[in-house]
Amino acid sequence: MIYLDHNATTPVHPEVIDVVQTYLIEQWGNPSSSYRFGSKIKGAIEQARGEVASLLGANAREILFTSGATESNNTAIRAALKSNSAKRHIITSQVEHSSVLAPFQALERDGYRVTHLGVNQEGLLDLDKLKNALSDETLLVSLIWANNETGVLFPVEAIGKLCRERGVLFHCDAVQAVGKIPIDLSQTSIDYLSISGHKLNAPKGIGALYVHRKAPFIPFLNGGHQEKGRRGGTENVAFIAGLGKAAELSRKRVLDYDHKVCPLRDALENGILSSIPNAELNGHATQRLCNTSNISFRGVEAEALLLLLDGESICASSGSACLADSDEPSHVVKAMKPDTDARQTVRFSLGMSNTMQEIEYSIATVRRAVKALQS
Ligand code: PMP
Repeated sequence: MIYLDHNATTPVHPEVIDVVQTYLIEQWGNPSSSYRFGSKIKGAIEQARGEVASLLGANAREILFTSGATESNNTAIRAALKSNSAKRHIITSQVEHSSVLAPFQALERDGYRVTHLGVNQEGLLDLDKLKNALSDETLLVSLIWANNETGVLFPVEAIGKLCRERGVLFHCDAVQAVGKIPIDLSQTSIDYLSISGHKLNAPKGIGALYVHRKAPFIPFLNGGHQEKGRRGGTENVAFIAGLGKAAELSRKRVLDYDHKVCPLRDALENGILSSIPNAELNGHATQRLCNTSNISFRGVEAEALLLLLDGESICASSGSACLADSDEPSHVVKAMKPDTDARQTVRFSLGMSNTMQEIEYSIATVRRAVKALQS
């Protein structure tokens, strides 16, 4: 199998599996128990918290474990809104993940005024448009760091600075950015930041939320005193420890990521664009993650192409895995290029384990499949 869908999920690293197994098989006590078989497990949770904090350039006290980025996004948005009921204007973009767009839609139905910032043809955000949208009524800005469909990067440092100057809370969905580009939250003005384990070689169903030490917070899940009262429920110890290991591995390799993945992605992209007529790149050429290539094949239904690729054991996708069962064309491509048929778009997202041999096979296979579908 040639796996070119790392933005959907990643394989669990063998060292992560070892750690997870330890906490499933040997150290399976409840961390809230008073005897040592339970209480010593608290140490594993705190070690993992420290590793996630190190990966993000944050303080361990600012890290909260969740069931994944969907929960992190919902938690952050709700915490921000509950901090001030007088302000009723919130800002996001048209190209967010559904786990931000859906809560914003619900808030709009509840009477919040919502601004959905657009992007240009290359998927870039215009900072002046954000500046103009901010008002004394604005409570929260929620913007993605790296787009899951195109890899396009938003200027989150500048966005954070702008929000801080205006006294507006800033939440950032950094799911796709973490582990692919270095992140140092001590140098940014971000109030809340969401990450997901399964994009980082940890299991699905574990994530974290960074909450800046001065940002307002209330729990999304009310229950026991776990996570210092910030998230009720017995901790998913095995997966938390696994996320800690994945964060440690990710921190050690993040500086090599570009160097390793970029040549593969560029070879794939250039090989396809130079040899397939009517193939077009979606997203800025350089202001983009080095693993992602989103390509429209004009006149070719993406789903048909993906089926042929699957038949040749190549895994790619037409967009977000979270919306894969919907018939709707990609809202991200539509926002960038309203006149393009967003159903003709394929996302290839690479990882560190891909090889040039796989890329060469993939180029030839895509070329053959597109030709078959066009004729
Ligand atoms: N945000 C982005 C940008 C994502 O790509 C994803 C996963 N597709 C999520 C949020 C949701 O993450 P999770 O699967 O951990 O809920």
